[in-house]
Amino acid sequence: KTLTVSLPGRSYDILIQRGLLARAGECCRKALPKAGRLFVVTDANVAPLYLQTTADSLAAAGFQVSSHVIPAGESSKCAGQLAGLWEAMMAARLTRTDAVVALGGGVVGDLAGFAAATILRGVDFVQIPTTLLAQVDSSVGGKVAIDLEAGKNLAGAFWQPRLVLMDPEVLETLPDATFADGMAEVVKYGCIKDGAFFAFLAQRPDRTALMGEIEHILYTCCNIKRMVVERDERDTGERMLLNFGHTLGHAYELAGHYQTWTHGQAVAAGMVKAARLGTSLGVTPAGTAEKIAGLLEALGLPTAIPCTGAEYAAAVGLDKKGTGEQISLIVLEELGHAIPWRMDKAALLEALA
Ligand code: NAD
Ligand code: ZN
Repeated sequence: KTLTVSLPGRSYDILIQRGLLARAGECCRKALPKAGRLFVVTDANVAPLYLQTTADSLAAAGFQVSSHVIPAGESSKCAGQLAGLWEAMMAARLTRTDAVVALGGGVVGDLAGFAAATILRGVDFVQIPTTLLAQVDSSVGGKVAIDLEAGKNLAGAFWQPRLVLMDPEVLETLPDATFADGMAEVVKYGCIKDGAFFAFLAQRPDRTALMGEIEHILYTCCNIKRMVVERDERDTGERMLLNFGHTLGHAYELAGHYQTWTHGQAVAAGMVKAARLGTSLGVTPAGTAEKIAGLLEALGLPTAIPCTGAEYAAAVGLDKKGTGEQISLIVLEELGHAIPWRMDKAALLEALA
């Protein structure tokens, strides 16, 4: 299946197909007719699994291939690794007509994408996402970034890929917890834009059944993200609907010092809490939070995370989406339709208590 993200002057395809990794070369050749060298960035977990297949396919399509392996984990999304990448790219004699390939999860995609956006004032890049989260979320939309001491994703750019290649087969090697993490974002798409898709997921919440429908799942999620990004590439309006569950999720991530809870776990609990809050505001129909919680629980995700008023306050105060004393929280008008809801931060904290 193919989706096209249409943006002014830089449209690109998202290809979703089993076995695509072994055909990466021909796909990249079509998208990058002029590139000579491809600089593949991956991490230490993904490299032994998928680097050889990918590099062989790229080489067979006539590309010169360099590769660079970073340590796995969020701590690699840092200025030190970025600088290391820049130097390695120059050592590999990357030129402005060459391209960067991100083979890995969201960490590799965000870091390699930011390196591509900045090296030689910007070179082409290709996303080959290998986690469920990266396939349904981070590889589409062009946000690339590294983390700073002051917070996550604070230095970055909008830099759209030339091509996104999704091979659902690579998801087979994901640990269960990492798969579940990605499912939190999948559920989010159902909540904010597609009630029928939510019901579809609720009928088959175990991993084997989900993998049986994975192409449809990837397509549905990427199609929603495509639509939202096309309407609001720079995140000044509709794109904030994608933050459903994320403002409160951020509080849980902070409360656990980014150690106790994964992003997906925090977002899962954040979605349930946001649905409860929506009901207390008179926006979200009663029973919605329970439906979401039921699905998340079946997926092995938490539906509530302990959090103090001070921790919520810290998260809300730091939230990039808040302006002044007001905050836009994403709430559900119904399961399948999200809207922004502006409210005083103080009123929000009171409602959360
Ligand atoms: P990750 O990249 O750290 O991957 C999770 C783990 O899975 C890692 O240990 C990785 O080595 C391993 N892995 C990857 N693919 C594998 C495979 N096929 N088989 C076995 N193991 C595999 O984390 P993630 O959850 O993919 O991404 C999280 C990052 O994405 C965060 O930094 C977050 O900020 C970012 N993100 C970015 C956007 C965006 O729009 N740019 C959106 C959401 C999240
Ligand atoms: Zn998220």
